[in-house]
Amino acid sequence: MSTAERSVAAAMGAALDVERVRRDFPALHQEVRGRPLVYLDNAATAHKPQVVLETIQRYYAMDYSNVHRGVHWLSERATEAYEAAREKVRAFINAPDRREIVFVRGTTEAINLVAASYGGSVLKPGDEVLITEMEHHSNIVPWQLVCERTGAVLRVAPIDDDGNLVLEAFERLCGERTRIVAVTHLSNALGTLNPVRRLVEIAHAHGARVVVDGAQAAPRLPVDVQALGCDFYAFSGHKLYGPTGIGVLWARRELLEAMPPYQGGGEMIRQVTFEGSTWAPPPARFEAGTPHIVGAIGLGAAIDYLQGIGLEAIARHEHALLEYATEALAEVPGLRIVGNARERAGLVSFVFDDIHPHDVGTILDHEGVAVRAGHHCAMPVMQRYCVPATARASFALYNTREEIDALVAGLHKVRSMFGR
Ligand code: PLP
Repeated sequence: MSTAERSVAAAMGAALDVERVRRDFPALHQEVRGRPLVYLDNAATAHKPQVVLETIQRYYAMDYSNVHRGVHWLSERATEAYEAAREKVRAFINAPDRREIVFVRGTTEAINLVAASYGGSVLKPGDEVLITEMEHHSNIVPWQLVCERTGAVLRVAPIDDDGNLVLEAFERLCGERTRIVAVTHLSNALGTLNPVRRLVEIAHAHGARVVVDGAQAAPRLPVDVQALGCDFYAFSGHKLYGPTGIGVLWARRELLEAMPPYQGGGEMIRQVTFEGSTWAPPPARFEAGTPHIVGAIGLGAAIDYLQGIGLEAIARHEHALLEYATEALAEVPGLRIVGNARERAGLVSFVFDDIHPHDVGTILDHEGVAVRAGHHCAMPVMQRYCVPATARASFALYNTREEIDALVAGLHKVRSMFGR
């Protein structure tokens, strides 16, 4: 199917043709330990379609040069492609202005940038930063660091037994002292989809700014930062079928313009003297040094690919997989799903009370099934549910029901190996 045909299919609400999609991903067509690979670790990182691989290869082979500073032809071409990628990102999340798109290493760096630069300049002793109990460490630790530096206080909104954010508690905790609210759009440990629009309304009513961790949502759902109403949105390229080492921070222009630099170096300055320096306007102010040029261009290719299929079609496909998996997993004796929130997407975490998740992961690996086992960089979630770790199956646009059947067959095998 051509890109144009895919767009038409997506616009008509057509089902995603998963067999065709799979052909675009070379990594899926290999055997692992003598079995066909079943890759269900997409929340950690996703495989790359051929078009992204070819784009990376082509740019390094033929169009490669440093951006912005060159007057020569290759540099101009590289700059054009790099800036075109910025425009693709802008359109992908419906940001008003491409100068609001800052290329960073990933979600982690984006949140550290906001915490250090924005948080570092606005937070005063006694101010509060409100996060939730379901955050990834990347949306906890940067806030702890800046709170320590500024004397601000970190507050945590609780989640209930099913993994829903307790909205009343969030509302109670969000008050006049709250300067920043930082929430995940979609939890990587529980699959909970947060009501970001509502959280933004509550936060804005108190004059707080909202940072959204979109690492898991951006590859799975249509994201519209203007409709969400948030102030900052962060995501990673490698989970979005693009390269590693590239990610995006979107921020409202007036906020970026008022923020001090995060790192110093080439490209981010207006003028440098030994007496002092002045800063370039955003986004250059926040892109010190040679950026990940080909990473950004590869991310642009991944975005083109996803938009060719349609984020709505991807969301529907993954939702159907999630429902199918949730039902099938319920049939495995002794298996308990951790995270049954009202709104979920993309992944399912589970435990056996008598089998360590690492054993589950290892046995599944011998069946060719790749899942993640561990704390998923969300230790407070593990503490909340009194488990050392969980196993997690996470889906992508290229996964199939047959692959979930293979997961479930593997889990029956795990169960029988440990008795019962
Ligand atoms: N936030 C969430 C919800 C995540 O799932 C992840 C990665 O798993 C991150 C942040 C960090 O992303 P990265 O390691 O790409 O910076």
